[in-house]
Amino acid sequence: CGVFGVYEAEDAARLTYYGLHALQHRGQEGAGICVRHNKLHLHKGEGLVTEVFDKARLKQLPGNAAIGHVRYSTAGGGGIANVQPFLFRTMKGSLGVCHNGNIVNANILKAQLEEEGAIFNSTSDTEILGHLIKRHTGRFIDRICKSLRELDGAFAFLILCENALYAARDKYGLRPLSIGQLPNGGYVFASETCALDIVGARYLRDLMPGEVVRVKDGELKSKFYLPTDQIVDKICAMEYIYFSRPDSTIEGINVHTARKNAGRMLYHESPVEADLVIGVPDSSISAAIGYAEESGIPYEMGLVKNKYVGRTFIQPTQALREQGVRMKLSAVSSIVRDKRVIMIDDSIVRGTTSKRIVRLLKEAGAKEVHVRIASPAIKYPCFYGVDTSTIEELISNRMDVEELRDYIEADSLAFLSEEGLQKTTSVTDTCSGLCLSCFSGHYVTPLYDSYKNANKD
Ligand code: 5GP
Ligand code: SF4
Ligand code: MG
Repeated sequence: CGVFGVYEAEDAARLTYYGLHALQHRGQEGAGICVRHNKLHLHKGEGLVTEVFDKARLKQLPGNAAIGHVRYSTAGGGGIANVQPFLFRTMKGSLGVCHNGNIVNANILKAQLEEEGAIFNSTSDTEILGHLIKRHTGRFIDRICKSLRELDGAFAFLILCENALYAARDKYGLRPLSIGQLPNGGYVFASETCALDIVGARYLRDLMPGEVVRVKDGELKSKFYLPTDQIVDKICAMEYIYFSRPDSTIEGINVHTARKNAGRMLYHESPVEADLVIGVPDSSISAAIGYAEESGIPYEMGLVKNKYVGRTFIQPTQALREQGVRMKLSAVSSIVRDKRVIMIDDSIVRGTTSKRIVRLLKEAGAKEVHVRIASPAIKYPCFYGVDTSTIEELISNRMDVEELRDYIEADSLAFLSEEGLQKTTSVTDTCSGLCLSCFSGHYVTPLYDSYKNANKD
């Protein structure tokens, strides 16, 4: 998912629309904007940002503060009831809440809250924060901090009230969240910096793990809701590998640069003699350029992508995903014919993409296809809001590298090592650690008994 918020600027809903549009790659199943015009007003729907909102709709959402969300759900978590933001109306005023991530103790908290009388409108775990805030007493910021302390897992939250906007990041910093400032002094929050750029906001900094900030009356205040010794920096490695846009910068490292470094490292770990290097558009191009530069083997455009097909992985079923890959990519036979080709992809999840592309390249006349993957093998599910799928569907959980090479019919196959991946972001010391749970199986958080049924956002 992706979140975007602005406080304060004229036409806040329109800015949020542009911000969400820049974050569209983070989720294509639903979009929503909650805007403040004295009171809070909400519009949301299923589909792309441009399908849910048009000029007329945005005109009906005047106001100078807003939060918005693009949704990417996993199996079972779809439907309009789970599209965000959520709007809570209480006697003391309204509250808009949206969230990127996944709360791993959601089921435990939900059971407790239901016991105490809460009624949930959705199966999304985002709603939990609203209920927790309502249940606590004291100053509003203290109620938010108390609530955040009860949550475990991955989250980047935006909370809009009638007189302030709050933003918070989980204590592991699993999901990214950046702060920017508009020329008029207003503040902007976004999952990725590419959304700050699009609205003309200047990047200020990232929220820190365990931090909550409040913007009110033109002033930004920061606070840690946990003691610093409970905070660890473990940003999701998949944000660099696949999820984020190449022009975004996360914790001081540009995503394209991190991917290029991964390609370079991959060459050093797994060199192979070949005539050309190609990348699977779009997310693997940076790594392919890095591999080509480091090896001296020319980079070529051996695969062309139809730009009008969305992200295949984000399709909720396997049938849709397979059809997506077919519609999406074509091999350029005049480039690959009779050539030994190194095909770089960013990751293998279910093996759908790699198998299909090796076949495409061979049908187009490639003599050899050597597959190099710019991340380690994904063997374990993610419980932190990225749909790396169930353990049964993860092909690297079932097959070792040689079995997988055989399955995708490649001439050779190699993955980047975990150490190699870690080095791709260690060029600066702003990023002190990566979550590698889906590769190593060593989870960053405790895994609660009930996590299996938790819904991810
Ligand atoms: P597969 O086809 O093996 O199931 O998935 C790998 C392809 O999906 C890669 O080409 C990659 O670009 C994309 N992908 C890999 N990991 C993720 C992920 O965690 N989330 C999403 N949305 N897409 C991914
Ligand atoms: Fe990212 Fe993998 Fe960690 Fe999930 S488990 S947060 S996908 S690195
Ligand atoms: Mg891809």
